[in-house]
Amino acid sequence: MYDMATRQHAVALHESGLTISEVSRATGVSRFSVREWTIRITPSPLMTAECPVRSGTLSTDRPRADYAYLLGLYLGDGCISEGRGGVHALRIACGNAWPGLIDECARAVTAVLPTNGVSRVSAPGCTSVVSTSKHWPCLFPQHGPGPKHLRRISLTAWQQQIVAEHPWELLRGLIHSDGCRITNWATRTVAGQSKRYEYPRYFFTNTSADIVRIFTGTLDTLGVEWKVAARSNGAVNVSVARRASVALMDEHIGPKY
Ligand SMILES: [Zn+2]
Repeated sequence: MYDMATRQHAVALHESGLTISEVSRATGVSRFSVREWTIRITPSPLMTAECPVRSGTLSTDRPRADYAYLLGLYLGDGCISEGRGGVHALRIACGNAWPGLIDECARAVTAVLPTNGVSRVSAPGCTSVVSTSKHWPCLFPQHGPGPKHLRRISLTAWQQQIVAEHPWELLRGLIHSDGCRITNWATRTVAGQSKRYEYPRYFFTNTSADIVRIFTGTLDTLGVEWKVAARSNGAVNVSVARRASVALMDEHIGPKY
């Protein structure tokens, strides 16, 4: 027997646009059961769940930090699609190379919307963390048709307030989705001895000039120095390479895991 939360979650995934087979794979529930539930327990109770933006449940501290992190992930690798009956699916694409980040993404989604289930949908090389709710467009008003780099992305006043309170969480989300930390090394001869020097750096790449501005503007408020390392095919690659700035980034972000 499956509990009601599992049933509701499966139905909500189906309403968000996943096929019966995809819901079955994501939840581990048989296709037969999923099909039964979509007939018997619609409409989904998500339709009446309280709005976290209007009801002010984002006003306690921890969900605000989680929200800032999730906002970074959404701006980097997230999308919101509309399904039936006003239910929207938030999908964050996570690379399978970093299983810890998949867990952290799912944890942040749960913290922001605790009453809604979270699924992992596998595709070659990546796992999408998927959550359905009527309120994702309220939580991420940047939602809109088409890719993010073809539309204007600006944060609302309440989002800017959260980012001002938790700037490192936003940056962590952005680096975890569209960034990385890499270590270059070089050898130098000092007093006749060959020594190896390591140069860790952070990179962030995005095709939306607005999202790049949100990233670099937040770095500026924290005193992290950055520069544009490259531009190609409309993508801007920002690097943080100065030693003191990398040390700050390491203290709050670190390598992906
Ligand atoms: Zn809402």
